[in-house]
This record gives sequence, C-alpha cells and structure tokens, in this order.
Amino acid sequence: MKVTSAVAGTLLGASLLLGISGTPPRQVPAAPQPGNGTGGWSWPLAPVPPVVRTFDPPAQRWLSGHRGADLGAEPGTAVRAPAGGIVSFVGVIVDRPVLVIDHGAGLRSSFEPVRSSLGVGAIVATGDEIGMVGTGAHCDRLCLHWGLRLFEEYVDPLLTIRDMRPSILLPKQGP
Ligand SMILES: [Zn+2]
Repeated sequence: MKVTSAVAGTLLGASLLLGISGTPPRQVPAAPQPGNGTGGWSWPLAPVPPVVRTFDPPAQRWLSGHRGADLGAEPGTAVRAPAGGIVSFVGVIVDRPVLVIDHGAGLRSSFEPVRSSLGVGAIVATGDEIGMVGTGAHCDRLCLHWGLRLFEEYVDPLLTIRDMRPSILLPKQGP
C-alpha cells in the first residue's frame, strides 16, 4: 500500500508552524534558522561519514524499525552538534550512552553511543564538539546512531542536511 500521508513544507518550516503547540520553544542563540541558505545543519561527524543504515520508520509506533540514521564512525571520533541547541539529556539508556540536543521548535537530536562531558543545559552551536563516539552501537559495524524527533514523531535526520529544497515531504510511515 502506498502511503501518501505526509507533512508538507520544509522540516524547519513545519517545526516552526508546529512550535505553537506544546511547551514554548526555548530561546537558543544558535538555534537553526530556516532561510539562511544552508538550513543551519551540518553532519555530526567530519569528514562526511558513510551512511551505514538509513532511516526506516515502522508502520506503527509499537513496531520495530530504525528510527534514525547510522553513520559509520570509529569509537573515539568527535561528535559535533548538527545544529545549535541545548543539551537536554546525557545518560545511559539500557546499555548505551546517549546524548540529546533540544534544538528548539520541537526538534530534538539524539546520538548514541556518545560519551560526553557536557551536562544537561549546556548550550551548543552548530559544529561544537559534544562528545566522542562510544562503543555499544546497535549496528553491525561501528557507527553513530542519529535520531531526530519533531515533537514525538521520528523524522529522517539526513533530510536536514541532504535536501534543503524549499519543499520536502516527510513520510510519516514507511513505504
Ligand atoms: Zn541506528
């Protein structure tokens, strides 16, 4: 079945529109700004990493899937903020060290496994080093998992970098 349900508009544009609901986005000096020509997002690893596994959201929330993108990276590689924001979580989930950045406007990036000396509340700008790739990644090869949520909906984090056309359709469900 072809699923056509989609959220129209740019990722950032949609997030700004949706920003009126829920908790008001905090003011972050380095928050990503739409319309600046670059989108304000960058790869969390340098140089540009190979994509080991792409975003593959489940058809239903409770089903398994892949809620992010896996980027090839050796443990110890520096991880950089893909956009400005505030560190909203640093800790271990199950057995993996996780770091979450709240970019404002409902957008949150999560990275794992990442070992970081940053604490909750730390303000980061695009490209700032936020930690190092740890061990315990869930992919077969060594990797960094990058998840991106727009409020409670997982979206493809690579859309922020790879495709900054004026209009992007964000699939809500898999093909
Ligand atoms: Zn992953």
